[in-house]
Amino acid sequence: MNILILAAHADDETLGCGGAIARWVREGHRVHVLFFTDGVGSRGRNSAAAKVRRRAAQAAAKILGCSIAGYGNFPDNQLDRVPLLKLAQTVERVKRKVQPEAVYTHFWGDLNIDHRRVCEAALTAFRPQPGETCRAVRAFEVASATEWGSPGAAYRPTAYVELTEADVETAVRAYGAYAQEVRADPHSRSVEAFLARRVVRGRECGVAWAEGFMVCRELIPL
Ligand SMILES: [Zn+2]
Repeated sequence: MNILILAAHADDETLGCGGAIARWVREGHRVHVLFFTDGVGSRGRNSAAAKVRRRAAQAAAKILGCSIAGYGNFPDNQLDRVPLLKLAQTVERVKRKVQPEAVYTHFWGDLNIDHRRVCEAALTAFRPQPGETCRAVRAFEVASATEWGSPGAAYRPTAYVELTEADVETAVRAYGAYAQEVRADPHSRSVEAFLARRVVRGRECGVAWAEGFMVCRELIPL
């Protein structure tokens, strides 16, 4: 199966579904990731920092075993200024190449505006027209963006991917590639919180480790 991850910033793919990517790759699926911004522009546009972030993304992708389908060059934390059509066209270009059967993207209620716009672009590019071959669009959670969002759009997983301890270890190593983004505990982006989230999501569905997702739209096979 071809799986496409649509992530606003490099690190969102690992925070949101790093363990699931490790599992899917282990099971022989092909996982492709499209990023939209350099992730550092809002902290002062700095090409050195952007290069570090891109190298981190490549290192994380190598650890997880996925491929990077592209880096959008949109302004960080300003995707609300980019026409939705442009974002959707970027997704559509990658969609034509990858032809994914499943798509994973941001939760529509995240605090981060880039996350919300990428979710909208995903839903636009994968609207269910006759002949659409993508069977599922699901949303992942990103620490310090999803749980910090509006309480009116609370994240409540409706689908889970069970992980082995080795999948979680792989995801933690990939997160470690983003050393500049990891925060000290008790920040929600700490390694401790990264592990705790997977413990809690696992317990929610009766297993040791899991990542939780919300279904945006899914055509369930008979
Ligand atoms: Zn992000």
